[in-house]
Amino acid sequence: MGATTFALGCRSSKSGEIVDRDSVPPPNRRSDEASTSRAPTDVVRRVRALGHEVIWLGFSTVMLKLSDGRCLLIDPWLSFSGCPIKVDDIERLDAILISHGHWQHVGDAALLHKKTNAPVIAVEEVSAWLRGHGVTAAPKVNLGGTIDVAGLRISLTKASHSSGLLESESGYISYGGDPAGFVVHLPGDVRVYHAGDTDVFSDMVLIRQRFAPQIGFLPVGDVTTMGPEGAAMAAELLGLEVAIPMHYDLPEFTGTPEAFCQCLRTRKVDTHVRILSPGEMLS
Ligand SMILES: [Zn+2]
Repeated sequence: MGATTFALGCRSSKSGEIVDRDSVPPPNRRSDEASTSRAPTDVVRRVRALGHEVIWLGFSTVMLKLSDGRCLLIDPWLSFSGCPIKVDDIERLDAILISHGHWQHVGDAALLHKKTNAPVIAVEEVSAWLRGHGVTAAPKVNLGGTIDVAGLRISLTKASHSSGLLESESGYISYGGDPAGFVVHLPGDVRVYHAGDTDVFSDMVLIRQRFAPQIGFLPVGDVTTMGPEGAAMAAELLGLEVAIPMHYDLPEFTGTPEAFCQCLRTRKVDTHVRILSPGEMLS
């Protein structure tokens, strides 16, 4: 892709109001700076000042902890050996978000729901499966929808992947509906995008136009999702200020965060990368 032109007839997610199209930043392009610079960007400074915690817990598990104690978990695979916290460590959750039906992403959702009563947010087919596995609060929502949970707005976006839920007793795979990504709207004009499992797709431009996420968790591991090059294209299409690589920390994956950084540099995409260790907070 050469120099990209984006149509900016857009609406920001900020409080849901229509905003001037020029207020949405253009695709990030730059010359040759290192994309792994640790210098805090505007949004990282704001997250820090607001007291929010954006934490990667390994694989695709992300915790968003607000300064007032509200806490969300996305794709909560806490039983993953690389995850530094376990179900027993969780005391409060206000929402559990599941991107799609694969078991590493449904993870420990049912256990966590039973422990905390937190509602589980997923497309209808995954919600229905979870209701059959003891989850009692799974509001109806689907792609394109935005709901309020615990006073936070959560938008479901499309993803390019598959979704199915394995029935352990029969071995059958139940239909899991369409896979999803999420944009979580945090207080203070901070929007965090979690891509779920996905390839890059051109409609990421629409996610940018609708929600203008500044921080994005992107899979980079290749093999079952996009790899470093696709993720670099995604960061560009989304206009991310900060990208955090995920979904690479299993032996079968070939894509690495370092290759992701290199692809961003090659494409001259002005997105800063934060390579976090499991349990590390964005700072
Ligand atoms: Zn998957």
